[in-house]
Amino acid sequence: MGAEVTEKEKETAVVLCNGGKSAVNAFDYHGPESCKSAMLLMGGQKACTYGCLGFADCVSVCPFDAMEMGENGIPLIDTEKCVACGKCVEECPRNIITLWPDTGSDRVLLQPGQGAASPGRHAQLPASAAANVKRCAR
Ligand code: SF4
Ligand code: SF4
Repeated sequence: MGAEVTEKEKETAVVLCNGGKSAVNAFDYHGPESCKSAMLLMGGQKACTYGCLGFADCVSVCPFDAMEMGENGIPLIDTEKCVACGKCVEECPRNIITLWPDTGSDRVLLQPGQGAASPGRHAQLPASAAANVKRCAR
């Protein structure tokens, strides 16, 4: 009797923030355009201490060209190109990128309009995960 071979479920990176440009700044930041650098100054320029800082550190480390910044300042993931290598997860100083099963069909759109503006690029969260995301108060 041979060992049963199971195919690993495809995962994709997901950014757990919907703030972006609509999330207000607590102060003007004039330092290097880097999320890590911004974090060193009072935890970042955003009034929200959880959300995306928007300087695209994650985008710049993706070896598969699977990320780009969306129009509202949140990184978009190309789920076709993402191989779930985890480099963006490691890079994000806010710890808001996670790998999630790419179930495709049960996704909810976090960035209205972004999907249509950038075909093939997604900033979507599986419906099963959406219930666990705190709604931004700002
Ligand atoms: S860095 Fe890796 S996990 Fe993140 S989007 Fe690119 S391919 Fe996917
Ligand atoms: S590294 Fe994190 S905080 Fe910076 S742009 Fe990417 S998701 Fe946002």
